[in-house]
Amino acid sequence: GLSAESYRHQHEITVSGDDIPTPFTTFESTGFPSEILREVHHAGFSAPTPIQAQTWPIALQGRDIVAIAKTGSGKTLGYLMPGFVHLKRCRNNSQMGPTVLVLAPTRELATQIQDEAVKFGRSSRISCTCLYGGAPKGPQLRDLDRGADIVVATPGRLNDILEMRRISLRQVSYLVLDEADRMLDMGFEPQIRKIVKEVPARRQTLMYTATWPKEVRKIAADLLVNPVQVNIGSID
Ligand code: ADP
Ligand code: MG
Repeated sequence: GLSAESYRHQHEITVSGDDIPTPFTTFESTGFPSEILREVHHAGFSAPTPIQAQTWPIALQGRDIVAIAKTGSGKTLGYLMPGFVHLKRCRNNSQMGPTVLVLAPTRELATQIQDEAVKFGRSSRISCTCLYGGAPKGPQLRDLDRGADIVVATPGRLNDILEMRRISLRQVSYLVLDEADRMLDMGFEPQIRKIVKEVPARRQTLMYTATWPKEVRKIAADLLVNPVQVNIGSID
């Protein structure tokens, strides 16, 4: 409708795909569970960011998304919030492996994502473990053995732990590739492809990138099914 179009225009959102839902311009309109909304109010946030407003209703429909947006646009909660809702719907046993898997390029980013997941998922009793290189595997393996609904990982370390057969990805049904362009620049494409082979094909996949070069378009075409594309601002 007209209001969706004016919101998109005002916030430089462009979308492509069939039947794009109206953006959630307020937190109340998201229908997120009250314990999650409480955390949002506690954080002092006044409204969803444009990427959150447009991608949340699409993600809640279970559709694949490729989102192109600069840093600082609120992408982390953009995928974590629908991931929390997905977890509530699945009610998997975290001892059998994660349901939500987030791949990120660096240890620093992965730990930031985990911090956000812990902060906003705590009252929903969602558990999250972080796997990254440059640190001993022992403590990370012990965390994994306690069970985690969400695993946030750099591709190199996750691939090592997969090869040790210390994690199963057979229960993953919500897969996020954050900063996909940076992961490819860092040479992680082979590890990403090996990891995704272990994730069931029946899943929802969300990819976030700041840029949209040929290599990123190729991996998106290979890993996502009929994705909705959402751009915030201009594409380089
Ligand atoms: P990106 O991944 O796009 O670079 P982040 O997800 O790291 O951005 O978010 C940047 C900052 O904005 C974080 O500190 C985050 O907590 C905050 N933030 C996220 N959503 C909102 C919101 N709706 N309102 C205000 N701040 C937000
Ligand atoms: Mg980010």
